[in-house]
Amino acid sequence: MLINKFINRKSFLLLIFFITIIVIFLIISFQEKNIILIKNKSDLRSKIFLNEIKPKICFPRTWEINLSKNEIYFFENCELKTIIPIAYQGPEGKWYQTPTGYYWIGTKKEKHISSLFPVYMNYAVQLYEDFFIHEIPYYLNGEMVSSNFSGGCIRLKSDDAKKFFNIVKQGDFVISYKELKDIKLKNYFHQPVNFDEFFIRQRFNNALRTNWQNAFNSEDRKLDYLQHAGIDLAPISGAQDLNVYNIFDGEVVKIVENGKDDHGFGNTVIVRLKNELCELDKELCQKYKNIYVLYGHLENINPVLKEGLFIKRGEIIGKVGATGYGCNYWRIGKDGCDSKNKLDIHLHLEIKTKPVLGSPVPANCLINNNYTPCYGYVPNNPENYGYLNPLIFLSENFN
Ligand SMILES: [Zn+2]
Repeated sequence: MLINKFINRKSFLLLIFFITIIVIFLIISFQEKNIILIKNKSDLRSKIFLNEIKPKICFPRTWEINLSKNEIYFFENCELKTIIPIAYQGPEGKWYQTPTGYYWIGTKKEKHISSLFPVYMNYAVQLYEDFFIHEIPYYLNGEMVSSNFSGGCIRLKSDDAKKFFNIVKQGDFVISYKELKDIKLKNYFHQPVNFDEFFIRQRFNNALRTNWQNAFNSEDRKLDYLQHAGIDLAPISGAQDLNVYNIFDGEVVKIVENGKDDHGFGNTVIVRLKNELCELDKELCQKYKNIYVLYGHLENINPVLKEGLFIKRGEIIGKVGATGYGCNYWRIGKDGCDSKNKLDIHLHLEIKTKPVLGSPVPANCLINNNYTPCYGYVPNNPENYGYLNPLIFLSENFN
């Protein structure tokens, strides 16, 4: 009886033991299967993804900072090599939003203390002037900075920051941009350019440094920078449709030819939007009496256009180009301008309250230590000078 009981107990324990082993085995194998599944899925995703991403411009070494998708791409001879996620970027609409445009990588510093705040920002790579790409910063006591936006710099998680730091080289070419593809126009506007073949190379408010007086004072630092009063739309390499289109019915009020008092805009057309716009957007007309659209740096102007002519939305204004200072003022680099290069081609688009080349509310800009009337840039938020953000004006879903 006692033996029987003992055997029964022993076999019961054995049974439990085997069941446990089987359960553990099942859990492990299920997890392994899952890991394989997930791995395959991510492999597949990255394969599709890698093929989807085409370089905007081909150089031996090019970094693209896609501020719409919060990703950095590295291309070597036009081939996508790696994708690095962006943790945070500067807030849209502020003067210190992460700069867009063409740049060359400047200095690299593995250990770096910010010139503005007492924080470490390690693996710091200079994008443009005070704007860096670096690891999420932490205070000198080791505590991580918790704000979820940056003062314009691009923040990467530690592993990503190290990876980026190790691959990037001083002098590498960088394009920082936003995409046009996801922007949904209000249905009564026509695209100023073909959104499938263009991207936002420089946005409204983008900071342009023209002065170096206030570099070490975070409050006054903004005085060193001018802000872009329009947006620059650039074609991707191989773009077929290089036309600039009239966005809404209106009157051609000004045609300026390259070199003839163009103030750097090159071939330029200004159109006054027809009052029908008021029926579509009443709020707009309560705010502004007239709205004008400036199309600058055109390669050529459609010869049928004359001052005083009424044109429909969708009519061709001209071809996108690089006339005027198309390459001097938006592009900040060692050579300033290389007009032989296709890089310089873009449409400078402004929406404003007066049919003038300069700012509707007159302002002076500090350029090369001289105060001169502002064209295309203003000393602070362009909305203070009679400009509207073209993307907010044109689109339903821009934020
Ligand atoms: Zn511009």
